[in-house]
This record gives sequence, C-alpha cells and structure tokens, in this order.
Amino acid sequence: MSLKRILVTGGAGFLGSHICERLVQGGHDVICLDNLFTSQKNNVVHLLDEPNFEFVRHDVTEPITLEVDQIYNMACPASPVHYQYNPIKTMKVSVMGAINMLGMAKRTGARILQASTSEVYGDPTPEHHPQTEAYRGNVNPIGIRACYDEGKRAAETLFFDYHRSNGVDIRVVRIFNTYGPRMHPYDGRVVTNFIVQALKGEDITLYGGGKQTRSFCYCDDLVDVIMAHMNNEPASGNPQDAFVGPVNIGNPGEFTIKQLAEKVIELTGSNSKMVDLPLPKDDPLQRKPDISLAKKELGWEPKIDLEEGLKRTIAYFKSVDLDSFRKPTDHDAHKSSNASKV
Ligand code: NAD
Ligand code: UDP
Repeated sequence: MSLKRILVTGGAGFLGSHICERLVQGGHDVICLDNLFTSQKNNVVHLLDEPNFEFVRHDVTEPITLEVDQIYNMACPASPVHYQYNPIKTMKVSVMGAINMLGMAKRTGARILQASTSEVYGDPTPEHHPQTEAYRGNVNPIGIRACYDEGKRAAETLFFDYHRSNGVDIRVVRIFNTYGPRMHPYDGRVVTNFIVQALKGEDITLYGGGKQTRSFCYCDDLVDVIMAHMNNEPASGNPQDAFVGPVNIGNPGEFTIKQLAEKVIELTGSNSKMVDLPLPKDDPLQRKPDISLAKKELGWEPKIDLEEGLKRTIAYFKSVDLDSFRKPTDHDAHKSSNASKV
C-alpha cells in the first residue's frame, strides 16, 4: 500500500484514536482533527511526537482546507447522553460536517469513509431481526434520539448524492455498538458505565430491567474492517465499480443488558449490586447485525468474543487514573463522576 496523507476527523475519540494509531504505524502522514468535545488529548498523546502525526483542534461544522488522499469521517458525539446534550449541534455535526468533508473529498479527489451507525435502523421491528442493510429502519423523526439517527441518515444521503452527482469516491460503514480501551470513562454508555461502576463498587444501573439486547464488538475487530473497507479496490480498477456500502459492521453475538452486567461483575470480581432505573425514551429493544455482506465483500468477521474484549477493556480502565478525566457534558448517567466534571 502506498503512503498517503490521511485525515481522521474525530481522531482523538475512542475509535478515531485507534485508527490514527494504526495509520501512524503504517507510516502514513496522519492529520487528527478534533474539537475535543467528547474526548481528551490523552487518547493521542503517545502519537504527538511522531513526525508523521499532527493534531488540529477544529470543529467539523466549520470549513477547513487541507490536502489529503483519504478521509475517515468519525467526528460526532456517539453516546446518547452526549448527542442529546445539544441536539441541534449534533444534527449540524452530521450534516454540515459531512458537507464540509465531502467538499474536501470532491476538491482533492480523496476517498472518504463515513462512520454511520446501526441507529439508522432505529428500533427494529421483530421481523427485521437481525438487521440487514436492506432494512430501511423504524426511526422516530421527532424523538430525543432523532438528532443522531436522522443526522446520520441525512449524512448517508449526502454521501450517496456526492457519489452519484460528483463521482466522489465514498465508503460507508454502519457501526453497531463497539467498546474497548480509550472510551471515555464517563461517556454514560453501557460498557463504560458498568465497568467503572463495578471497579468503584457502586450500583450497576440497569435501565428498564436490562431485557433489551445489544451486540458488542471489540474495537480492534472494528478498526480492521473499517480499514479494509477504506482500502478495498474494485477488481476493474474503475472507482465507479467499487463496493461502497453501506455495510453493517459489528459482532453478531447478542446479549441482554442484564447479561452484560452479570459478565462485568464476574470479570471484575466486584461486590456491586444491580439497581433498576427507567428505560430512556425510544431506547431500541433489540439490535444485532447481519454481517453477511461484510463477510462476502470484505472477507471479514470479528475474532474477539465479549469475554476476551471485556477483560482487555477492564484492564485498561484499571490502568488509567479515573480522576484525570473531565466529564464531557453535565449528564447524570454516571452519578459518581459528577465530582470529576469541570
Ligand atoms: P467518541 O465520542 O469517542 O469520538 C467522537 C470524536 O468526535 C470525539 O473525539 C469528539 O471530540 C469528536 N467530535 C465531536 N464533535 C465534533 C466536532 N463538531 N468537530 C470535531 N470533532 C468532533 O465516539 P466513538 O465511539 O469513537 O465514535 C466515533 C464515530 O463512530 C462517531 O461518528 C459515531 O457516531 C460512530 N459510531 C460509533 C459507535 C460505537 O459503538 N462506538 C457505533 C456507531 C457509530
Ligand atoms: N444502559 C443501561 N445502563 C446504563 C447505560 C445504558 O442499562 O448505565 C442501556 C441503555 O438503556 C441501552 C443499552 O444499555 O438499552 C445501550 O446503551 P448505550 O448508551 O451504550 O448505547 P445505545 O446502544 O443505546 O446507543
């Protein structure tokens, strides 16, 4: 693979930082662009002295001119409590961020990958379980999750319109719940909440009795397939023949949230007890990817199961100083972190 100039928006975030690290290791010239809304620079601090890595503090809703060959468009708050904090801004990040980055791709001829989401399927009806890419979804357009779900849907529309109208070389992935080291400990997402609660001996907060399901993918598996999709070339050599997606990526293992809590308690050896809290509005009841398309087109399937992935993630959270993290927004999904917020 030839060395490239590569932009990673949201590059200091959980997934973005893993992508930056792999690209720097591969010798590429990497620009990590982030406004540090839901992350901290510590995710990329180990890369700052590398000659082929550059950090740019910038907001994707504002235009920027850079010369690049590839763009991973990862910037967007991903945790429900973060994206609901300022829902209008969330919609702007998805839509204006996509327009700005697609404009850059059009001008430079760069290939651009969009981090879309399983949330484009909303709350899937039982006959569409597991979800395939053909499913058009069941999204409440005026609910509290709509800023994210509809924003990501609009971004997919923009990607495909730039592709059809302007020949922009796109790739689109629909990411299902992914976890691992470098998630923000106070992001309010279920894996981080449960691990941090278990390590601190606090109550494990089960919403809605924990009967709802999710499929959890370990970050290394996910980064493998994101990079495979970005670098997948069409057999004909003609970019218009490329497999562009959208393609589901995630681990099809399906667990109830209660099963996840039990696993975290077991693996941490915690004395924490589960407490029941109300289910947030529009919280999808079940979610599991059908990954046949990713297997067929990209020859990919995840290798790391939930137990192994949780062990690695728990080891990470044990290794960091939880008090050195600033809570990104004033949410109460993780109560004991209130002391840590600015
Ligand atoms: P994250 O919150 O750790 O990372 C997002 C990054 O984007 C953060 O560093 C944040 O500061 C940055 N950001 C937010 N708004 C920005 C703006 N206006 N300008 C510049 N940077 C901005 O979340 P993540 O889990 O790493 O998610 C990365 C991407 O993957 C997101 O687009 C998310 O929607 C998508 N995704 C993630 C998951 C998952 O389970 N992790 C699932 C589906 C989709
Ligand atoms: N959840 C929970 N307790 C928590 C945090 C989340 O029971 O402390 C549940 C939440 O209601 C949802 C699932 O876990 O059903 C996954 O939530 P998360 O915020 O991680 O992401 P989502 O998949 O909903 O976008």
